[in-house]
Parts: sequence; structure tokens; C-alpha cells
Amino acid sequence: MTVAKPRVVVVGAGIIGLGIARDLAHRGFGVVVADPDPSRGATRVAAGMLAPVAEARWGDERLLPLALESARRWPGFAEELANESGADLDFHSDGILLAAVDADDRSVVEDLQVLHERNHLRTTVLDRSEVRDLEPALSPSVHLGILTHGDMAVDPRRVGAAMRACLPRLGVEVAASRVEAVETDAGRARGVVLDDGRSLASAAVVVTAGAWTPGIAGIPEDALPPVRPVKGQILRLRGEPLLDRPVHAFVHGNPVYLVPRSDGELVVGATQEEMGFDTRPTGRGVYELLRDAIAVVPEVAELELAEVSVGFRPGTPDNLPIIGESRVSGLWFATGHHRNGILLTPVTVSVVADGLTTGTMPREFLPYSPTWPVRRAPMMVPT
Ligand SMILES: Cc1cc2nc3c(=O)[nH]c(=O)nc-3n(C[C@H](O)[C@H](O)[C@H](O)COP(=O)(O)OP(=O)(O)OC[C@H]3O[C@@H](n4cnc5c(N)ncnc54)[C@H](O)[C@@H]3O)c2cc1C
Repeated sequence: MTVAKPRVVVVGAGIIGLGIARDLAHRGFGVVVADPDPSRGATRVAAGMLAPVAEARWGDERLLPLALESARRWPGFAEELANESGADLDFHSDGILLAAVDADDRSVVEDLQVLHERNHLRTTVLDRSEVRDLEPALSPSVHLGILTHGDMAVDPRRVGAAMRACLPRLGVEVAASRVEAVETDAGRARGVVLDDGRSLASAAVVVTAGAWTPGIAGIPEDALPPVRPVKGQILRLRGEPLLDRPVHAFVHGNPVYLVPRSDGELVVGATQEEMGFDTRPTGRGVYELLRDAIAVVPEVAELELAEVSVGFRPGTPDNLPIIGESRVSGLWFATGHHRNGILLTPVTVSVVADGLTTGTMPREFLPYSPTWPVRRAPMMVPT
């Protein structure tokens, strides 16, 4: 006889919430996902670089082990999801090209090369002509490149749609409602209250509300994750395919990335602005992204500008995600993924689903948990 597993409410249907809901349902949990408007989430606008190496930065090394672990899981995760949903996720694993335009940009890229070497990350350094052999559409002004092996890309919109398509077959209930509050009793989460006044009782609540996490009532102040919105403007252009792989360039000190999709879309991103939930695209944002993208690939100037969008990365003070059970028993968080939530999805999903199944967090992931006493070095406790 199989014993039914308890009900879990997942708050938010971005890539993290949908991924957790799907995994828990596979394990036999009863799952409800609540989200009034999934289209406002960062998942819908994200470029979809899966780039632990190209996105590695000095000062953020504590993220690296988690990012590399999630990247290691992405090919299997994508294959399973594609098989289960029948969807093409536009998943690519040809690496990402880091590129430098002027002498200062060159020193930024060379500095990253040192970071790569120190962390034993696999890369190939390319000179001016090798860079253009790899990506002929690049401007002659690009004079140094690093090809990061193992970095990948996927279309997050397709991933989200594929995850959603799996849910009905798995018996997951999707409620188009806002969670107003988490209900607690005697230091335990007991469920949530929705904006229509309904209460949903559950054995556990998993908050995956991205940048909106602090807006949920009922969570004791000392358990509330310090997440803030980091505004990002991003463009989608259409036309003849120009690139075989994503290019992440530095242009006179400004970072810009260009991510090609198989259907001819080119994603150009992204600004990083501390503007709260300001949803306005701006002239400066669009101008600077296009200016820098055209400096890297001149033919971008001829593409159709199909979409300008704004999203909110869930940022944290230490740039690390917050994954695990909080001080309130049964109240879990999987949020704060900032610039890397698409990359970090497979590892986040399995940490939370394993944790809810076994009641414990694997030791190596404890430093990312909301209750880790000091979120400072060292990260990833050696096993
Ligand atoms: C411009 C831009 C580019 C990016 N590019 C990349 C990239 O190339 N690679 C990468 O790895 N990451 C990238 N990111 C980061 C990535 O998009 C995020 O880290 C990731 O999408 C976070 O996913 P999430 O599911 O936690 O949150 P979201 O996708 O933001 O979803 C949160 C959901 O919670 C819902 N919600 C909020 N409050 C409530 C409530 N009270 N009740 C119910 N539901 C609620 C919202 O409606 C929303 O749908 C980018 C982000 C931006 C903004």
C-alpha cells in the first residue's frame, strides 16, 4: 500500500516554483501552485545563459560551486523535461564567448582569465582572428576572446511553458491567486491565505516568489529573506541568425550580452538598476544596450526590434540564493537567485524536493540555507 504524501503549497510560478512543483508531484506530494500573474516574473524576460564560467566574477566565488553543480545537472534536466513535455527547449551547450573591445576591456577579460585559472575552469583564449573564425559576425574591434567550455543556454520561456504543460498530468493544482499570507501556528507553517479569502491548509509552504518575497504577510520578521528587486531591461530582436553561441562582451567598460535562439531571435541584455519595482523601459536603457550590441556585432543594427521588456532579479545582500527551510518549521524558501536563477534551477529544485522528502538538507548545501548562521566564507562545506 502506498501512503499519500502531504500537501505542499508553492507560492509563485516562475521557473523555480514550477520546477519544484513538478519534482514534488513526481515524488507523490499533493501540490498546489499559486500565482496571480506568472508573466510578470523574471523568468519570462531572462536571457537564459547557463553560464557559471562566463558569469563568474571576483568577489562572488562563493556562488561558483553551486553554479557549477547546477550546470552539471542541466543537460540531464533539459533532456528529462523535453521528453516529458514533448517541448523543444532550445538548449545549447557550445560554450559562451567572452569578448573585449578596447584595451581596458581587454584587461577586464584578462583579469577574468586569472579567475578561471585559479578555479580550474575550462576555457580557451582566442586572439583577434581566432575570435572571428569562431563568430564571423563579430566586429573587427573585438580583439580578444575567451571561449568558456561547459557554459550553455536555454530559452526560459520554453522551459516555463514545458514545466507548466507537465503539471496537469501530475495532478498539480494551479491557482491564479495571490498568496496574501503564510499561516503559522506554534512555530509551524500551516498553509496560506489567498487574495480571495480562501485558506489552503498544507504540511509545508515553499515560497518561490522571487523579488516579491518580502511582500507576503505572516512571515516572522527574523525569518523573512532580505530579497530586493534589481531591475533589468532587455531587448529581443529578430532577423537573420548572426551568432552560433552567446557572446558576453565588454564594450568601453560596459557589459553586454547577445544570446541567439534557433528561431532567429537575438536577446540583448541587460541593464542592472536599483530602482525598486519600476516597470518602465527607458530611452537610456534601450540606447545603451543597442549601442554596445552594435559595437560587438554591427549587423545588429539591421535587425527588427521586436520587444523591450523589464524584469526584476531577486537580489540578496551577499549575491547568494536562499534555499532551504526557515526558522519556521515547514516554511521553505527558494529565492534570491538574482542574475542566475535559470542556471540554478536544477540544483535548487532537487535541494528543496530532497529536503522535503527526507526532512534534511544535504550538508554541502547548508551554507545557502536561510538559517545558516553566518552567510560568509567558507561556502560548500567539504564532504
Ligand atoms: C533581464 C534579466 C535577465 C536575466 N538573464 C538570466 C540569464 O541569462 N541566466 C540566468 O540564469 N538568470 C537570468 N536572470 C535571472 C533569472 O531570471 C531569475 O533569477 C529567475 O527567473 C528567478 O526565478 P523565480 O522563479 O525565483 O522568480 P520569478 O520568475 O520572478 O517568479 C516569481 C513569481 O512569483 C509570483 N509571485 C510573487 N508574489 C506572489 C504572491 N504573493 N503569491 C503568489 N505568487 C507570487 C510572481 O507573479 C512571479 O510569477 C535574468 C533576470 C533578468 C531580470
